[in-house]
Amino acid sequence: MTFNYASVASGSCGNCHYVGSDGGSILIDAGLSGKRIENNLQSIGKDIKDVMAIFITHEHVDHIKGAGILSRRYDIPIYANEKTWISMKDKMGKMSENNVRLFENEKGVGIGDFRVKPFKIHHDAADPVGYSICSGDKKISIATDTGHICQDMKKELHGSSLVVLESNHDVEMLKMGSYPYHLKRRILSQSGHLSNDDAAMFCVELAKEGVENILLAHLSRENNFPELAYQTAIGTLKMNGLDESVNIRVLKRQEASPVHSI
Ligand SMILES: [Zn+2]
Ligand SMILES: [Zn+2]
Repeated sequence: MTFNYASVASGSCGNCHYVGSDGGSILIDAGLSGKRIENNLQSIGKDIKDVMAIFITHEHVDHIKGAGILSRRYDIPIYANEKTWISMKDKMGKMSENNVRLFENEKGVGIGDFRVKPFKIHHDAADPVGYSICSGDKKISIATDTGHICQDMKKELHGSSLVVLESNHDVEMLKMGSYPYHLKRRILSQSGHLSNDDAAMFCVELAKEGVENILLAHLSRENNFPELAYQTAIGTLKMNGLDESVNIRVLKRQEASPVHSI
């Protein structure tokens, strides 16, 4: 059985993740134009027509931009919790009622051979979630747009074969950079975005738990560099003697990643 993950794009300009198996595929978020999502999927040999559902993490535009158009064009249902749906529905255009699927965070959603489990994250949105997607005994988890990682999130992420983890900004670059004060405060807050340092520390915990693949995601264009995010994570792992036990990659903002099979 195959169980695949690819980033369609990941960064402050737009986020979309692909998870697929023999039984079909899903997208987590659709925060780029519909056309770019289609093209990026095509660049890794995947077809939007095989997508069974789009799951939304939260209503910010970098996570929902292309969701409405893809739903209309390819008759794809959109899954979100109720508060997120209420906050995003005005930006979705006309949706077929049948393609609006609301879930409760506590309950997972079964679709194809996946079990999709939302979990709460800490971000300034209505009711933001990350997702764990299980197929057989394997688990892929996606945790971006979170100001910190709480104990409950840790429980959800442990046991994953692959974790997509936010590594949004370098704290010094953000502090010295050109963003207005209120925006800096928002990003640095407990319900903002995860820094390179915090991501790196959490990589150590994940590596100790036996997670073998970590993909650093949602990098800021203004306040980060891919090499800096990577070096922060690998340097911290090295200090803990764990750099050999885990595969660290950085996801690109504009391009799809290679398909990771687990
Ligand atoms: Zn957000
Ligand atoms: Zn975001």
